[in-house]
Amino acid sequence: MKIVKYPHPALRAAARPVTAIDKDVQLAAAQMLDLMYKHEGLGLAAPQVDFGYQLLVMNFEGDPGRKDMEYVAINPAIVESKGTVNDREGCLSFPGLYQNVRRAKTVKVQAYNLKGELYEMACSDLPARVWQHEIDHLNGVLFIDKMGPLGRLGSKKDIEKFIADFEQAKKKGEYPSDLAPKM
Ligand SMILES: [Zn+2]
Repeated sequence: MKIVKYPHPALRAAARPVTAIDKDVQLAAAQMLDLMYKHEGLGLAAPQVDFGYQLLVMNFEGDPGRKDMEYVAINPAIVESKGTVNDREGCLSFPGLYQNVRRAKTVKVQAYNLKGELYEMACSDLPARVWQHEIDHLNGVLFIDKMGPLGRLGSKKDIEKFIADFEQAKKKGEYPSDLAPKM
């Protein structure tokens, strides 16, 4: 399992709901947590590892020692959102790119954990931002889509570089040679 980078087409596909929490889902969640910590992220969504299911892992401290901050979310949904806040955001599928993105300040989310129990969480600011960013991934929506005009302009060079790197990665055999990018 590895993190795919923009413009890998897996990032633009809508994820399917998880219908059974089986060994595949449990293994994917464990591997995604390892990858998230290895790359020092706060969250990782299954489409980012080319696993097309509604599965997220998060740790709002980004610290593997803080298991109390670690969340696995299956079939998550935002049930309430309030306010707006503009703040810096990054994504493990766009390494090195950070731009301001406007998000709801407070969200209430519902999701299932790996035991199949429904839980609800209300949070603000950074954790709320992580939830919104990761849930967007399940719908093929990326943070570059949510940037304002200045953020887009400031990202142009990086995005061109990601597109060029994607073609290079295919040449090196890291992705199938016939894989079409999806912007
Ligand atoms: Zn992301």
